[in-house]
Amino acid sequence: VRFVNVQKSYDGETLVVKNFNIDIAAGEFLTMLGPSGSGKTTCLMMLAGFETATHGDIILDGQSINNVAPHKRDIGMVFQNYALFPHMTVAENLAFPLRVRKVPQADIDAKVKRALEMVRLESFGSRRPAQLSGGQQQRVAVARALVFEPKLVLMDEPLGALDKNLREEMQYEIKHIHENLGVTMVYVTHDQSEALTMSNRIAVFEDGIVQQLATPAQLYEEPENAFVAGFIGENN
Ligand code: ATP
Repeated sequence: VRFVNVQKSYDGETLVVKNFNIDIAAGEFLTMLGPSGSGKTTCLMMLAGFETATHGDIILDGQSINNVAPHKRDIGMVFQNYALFPHMTVAENLAFPLRVRKVPQADIDAKVKRALEMVRLESFGSRRPAQLSGGQQQRVAVARALVFEPKLVLMDEPLGALDKNLREEMQYEIKHIHENLGVTMVYVTHDQSEALTMSNRIAVFEDGIVQQLATPAQLYEEPENAFVAGFIGENN
């Protein structure tokens, strides 16, 4: 994934993403970390195709995806509020992205089963989302993002609604899944310790600018400026 001179303005005046240049390696776990309003979600929305860049190119597998519709991008997504379909069972929720992609029925059952195993919800396929705990619902959302085997997975504050213990457990699970599947992950959080625990590299955002893009150890030991030092140091 590459962002090349990407800028975004919603009102035609203020740039909320100022000039974003970044290469994300295949298989990398890259976290966008920064305070509220710094432009993280906007970057994910442009990657997902729900927002268009005002300027610049977003490249996936060597090709610009600026004009590719969201459902034609090979990208799985998880958001904070889960967005599961309430009237469908867990298994039907997982089958949905496969049906959209016209996967044959015989393959759908096998893929749904494997995705449920991945998040340890094998026996929950026939339940509805309302019959699951918050953590279980979030695991279904993770499984649904992975079930069609996308090369790229986007997660926007996926653990924000969970309590501390569950959040730590899910951090471990997501990391484990990432390592096993070898997918590229772009993860958004405002939580420093979550970013430091999970990421290969972290992009620290402030006001639509990437202040530093580095490994957790580099950010910790050699912050490039006072903002990065202050933000990484908070709550740690
Ligand atoms: P948060 O952690 O609060 O979600 P963020 O870092 O993800 O923040 P964005 O949601 O990308 O930040 O917002 C960046 C800026 O763009 C903010 O000033 C926000 O008000 C503005 N913005 C975001 N979405 C829209 C929109 N649809 N229309 C107009 N302005 C928007």
